[in-house]
Amino acid sequence: MSKKIKVRFAPSPTGDLHVGNIRTALFDWAYARHTGGTFLFRIEDTDTTRVTDEYINAAIDTLKWLGLDWDEGPEVGGDNGPYLQSQRLDIYAHWAAKFIEQKDAYHCYCSPEELEAVREAQRAANQAPGYNGHCRDLTVEQIAAYKTQGRAAVVRMRMPDGGTTFNDLIRGEMAFDHKFVPDFVLVRADGSPLYTLAVAVDDILMKVTHVLRGEDLLSSTPRQIRVYQAMGVSLEDYPVFAHLPFVMGADNAKLSKRNGEVSIAWYRDKGFLPEAICNYLALLGWSPGDDRENLTMKELCELFTVEKVNSSPARFDMKKLEAINGDKIRALTIDDFLTWALPFLIKAQVISGAEDEVALVKRALPIIQERIIMLSEIPAMLKFLFVKDFAIEPESLSKVTESGAKDVLARSLKELEPITDWTHEAIEAALRASLIEEMGLKPRIAFGAVRIATTGSTISPPLFESMELLGKAASLSRIAAALTL
Ligand code: GLU
Repeated sequence: MSKKIKVRFAPSPTGDLHVGNIRTALFDWAYARHTGGTFLFRIEDTDTTRVTDEYINAAIDTLKWLGLDWDEGPEVGGDNGPYLQSQRLDIYAHWAAKFIEQKDAYHCYCSPEELEAVREAQRAANQAPGYNGHCRDLTVEQIAAYKTQGRAAVVRMRMPDGGTTFNDLIRGEMAFDHKFVPDFVLVRADGSPLYTLAVAVDDILMKVTHVLRGEDLLSSTPRQIRVYQAMGVSLEDYPVFAHLPFVMGADNAKLSKRNGEVSIAWYRDKGFLPEAICNYLALLGWSPGDDRENLTMKELCELFTVEKVNSSPARFDMKKLEAINGDKIRALTIDDFLTWALPFLIKAQVISGAEDEVALVKRALPIIQERIIMLSEIPAMLKFLFVKDFAIEPESLSKVTESGAKDVLARSLKELEPITDWTHEAIEAALRASLIEEMGLKPRIAFGAVRIATTGSTISPPLFESMELLGKAASLSRIAAALTL
C-alpha cells in the first residue's frame, strides 16, 4: 500500500504573508486535498528576533481567511506537535548533540572576524566563499585552549566529499557538488537552532512525504538531505521535493516584500475575495491543462497535480487578478455580497450597521454588482444614499452651475414632481421625454447634471435606479438645492 501523502506549509512569519507564501500554501493545500492526504501547517519561529506573535497570529488568520484549512498544526493540534518550532527546542538540541556524538557535526570556535577574513581571502582568490573546515578536526588541546579564551562555539555539520542528487518533481534530476556546499551551522553560539536543522528534523519527525515550496529554497535541499542522513533516515522515508517557480513582478523583477501589493493584507483591505486570490494564484505556474481560468476551490482541488506545475517563472498580472475578482463578485448571491460589503461600508463610516441601513444597502447592491472590481469601491458608490449633510463634490460643482444646467434641473424638477409611483422606469420615462426629446439635449449633458445634483459625484451607480433608491423627497430637494447654487 502506498504511503498516505502529507504536505506541509512552513512559513517563518517575519512580516505579513505575501503573495509568494500564499501561492506555496495554496499549492500545498490543493495537493493534499487532491490526493486525499494530510495538510500540515507548521510555524518556523526559531528566529525570535524577527518572528513575532503578531505575525504568527496574522499568518494563522490569513490561512483561515483564504479557506486553506489544515489537518495538523496550530489550533487544531495533531499527533506530531507542537507545531511551533519555538516549542520544540529540546528536540533540536537532542539531535544536534547526537550528530556531534556521531561525529557528523562538530563544534566550531571561529570568531565572526576570522570567518570574514576567510571569506575575504576566498574572494581575493576568486573562490566561492564558504567555511574552510578550520575546526573540523581540532585536537583536545586546541579545544581546551579555545575554551580558556572564553570562545563560544557553534555546531557545524560536516559535509562529506562528493555530492547530493535528488529528483525534484518539477525540475527533474538535481545534482549538487559538495565543493559548493560548505560545512554549515546547525546551532548558534547561544544554543538556538538554525532553520536547516529545525526544518529537516521536523519534516522527518512529522512524517512529511512531500515538500512543495519556493524555488528560493532549492539550494538548501542538499543540506537538509545531509541532516536526514545523520538522523539515520532510510532513503525511502526522505520527503519528495518539488520547488515551485518564482513569482515575478509585471516588470520581470522579483516581487518584493517592500512593495505594498505583495502583502496579502493589502488585497484584503482593497476588497479582493479570498476565492479570487486563490483562483488567480493557482494559475501562477500551474494550469488545469485547458484554457479554463475561472475555478472554484473545489475544482482546484479536483484538478491540481504537481505534474502540471511549470518550472519557468510566473508573472504576476494585477489586471488579470482584478478581472477574476470582478467575476467572483458577480457570481455572489446578494446575501453573500451583502456580508462582504457591510464591513467596508461600516469601516468607511458610510453606515453604522442599523437595520434600515442594511436593508437599503441590500436593495442597492444589485445595481453595483456588475460595476465594481473590488469591494473597497462600494462606499464611494453608495455614500449618496446615507450622507446626512449632502454636498456636491467640489470637482463636479461646475456641472450644475454651468450655463444650461439650471434649465435642465428646473425642467427635471417640474417633470418629476407629479410622479406618484417613484420607480426607475417612471423617472427615466419622465426625464427622457422632457430633456432628450423635447429639449433636444444629449443624454450625457442632460443626465450628467441630474446625476451630480442627486448623488453629488460622478462615481455613482446607474442614475434612475439611484434616484429610486434615494426616494422622491430627497431627490427633489437635492435638485432644488442645486438650483440655488
Ligand atoms: N520557513 C521557511 C521560510 O519561510 C520555509 C521552509 C520550507 O518550506 O522548507 O522561508
